Amino acid sequence: MKLVCIECGKSISYDNFSYYCECGGLFDIVQDFHNHDAERLKRLFNERLSERMTPYASGVWRYKELIFPELPEEFIVTKYEGNTGLYTHQLIQDYIGMRKIYLKAQSENPSGSFKDNGMTVAVSHGKSLGYKKFTCTSTGNTSSSLAMYASIGNSDSYIFVPNKDISMNKVLQTIAYGAHVFSIPGTYDDGIEFLEKYSEDLGLYVCNSINPFRIGGQKSIIYEIAQYLNWNLPDWIVVPGGALSNATALGKGLHDLFTLGLIDKLPRIAIIQAEGASPFHQMIDQKMKELIPDGSPYTRASALNIGNPPSWKKAKHALKETNGITASVSDTEILNAKAIIDRSGIGCEPASAATVAGLRKLVDQQKIDKDETALCILTGNILKDTDALKEYHSEDNMVATFKNTLQATSLDYKTIQNYI
Ligand SMILES: *Cc1c(COP(=O)(O)O)cnc(C)c1O
Ligand SMILES: [Zn+2]
Repeated sequence: MKLVCIECGKSISYDNFSYYCECGGLFDIVQDFHNHDAERLKRLFNERLSERMTPYASGVWRYKELIFPELPEEFIVTKYEGNTGLYTHQLIQDYIGMRKIYLKAQSENPSGSFKDNGMTVAVSHGKSLGYKKFTCTSTGNTSSSLAMYASIGNSDSYIFVPNKDISMNKVLQTIAYGAHVFSIPGTYDDGIEFLEKYSEDLGLYVCNSINPFRIGGQKSIIYEIAQYLNWNLPDWIVVPGGALSNATALGKGLHDLFTLGLIDKLPRIAIIQAEGASPFHQMIDQKMKELIPDGSPYTRASALNIGNPPSWKKAKHALKETNGITASVSDTEILNAKAIIDRSGIGCEPASAATVAGLRKLVDQQKIDKDETALCILTGNILKDTDALKEYHSEDNMVATFKNTLQATSLDYKTIQNYI
């Protein structure tokens, strides 16, 4: 394994670590899979499904050979992440208008979001280099995830969160895990800029999506989906796009599976952004060469509130390689789709529901055929944003199509019988 600059091609060793090349390009992990045999890997991954108390019980480290084979086991910091549910539900299929839709609930991860898939690898890598102090800037889920792994790995975390438009549930979770949390003016983008400048001098290991090991860990999401579906993937994989780490990892993971011969056809990727924070979608839609950052992004789906995604070039590559497409959806579309996902019993936070809302729109616009199959990645847990639930299901919400309000009632048989 080595780190290769995506701009100039310069390569460095994975233990001589930096995020940016001298030329300003991001580093990407490049692996050589020549010596792997697909059948042997399938057997190994299947055998590990019966593990309970080793790192291989994790839905990330189960695929260690494809993620970080060089890492000595003693450095692995794991909370048995991954191993999340794969669902189908008639309600969601009817809402979208397709016959077969899967939902992969990364919301079932230990800290409640897919960030755990990547964070376990980033923190383990940092530990292997001798770091004791970890940092990130985050709209919330990256911070909860980092705080959790830092603490379980007996290390410290220093976390920067914007002082507005983020979910208090996530900030509280981060504080509770014992992180040093700094509430900062500005947005996620400002926090990233600060860390890019100063993290090295401060001796901090950065766990944002510019960290290629996080992307490496997040590849496990598509590996696990493929394994659960017996190595037959649906026609489309749909992800929400914020910083675009998930989309990037998905593209890389698919590339691995295809190169190794574990799958024989590449599904297409659909990346869905929120209208108020959609610089990537706009670039693709208007066939622009470069991404134009949005200086004041706003969406109620706070995990997508990012105007200058650092990984856009990697995500563009993933899109191109899978003949993918993009779309954007309004906050109302997101929140109504979320209500359907919640009501189905699966549940998710607003950002995740951009997938179902986007897929519905793409089917409606006939960009995706209703007879094709699709899978939506649900990124975060239903309890990650309880304010969103309160707002949606409140009496005076006029745009909530699937509202479910509280029944205030007296506790006697006749009254209750009327409701049942
Ligand atoms: C981080 C996050 C996203 C966005 O993922 P990116 O990799 O930043 O594009 C979407 N949903 C949730 C719940 C998240 O935590
Ligand atoms: Zn370079």
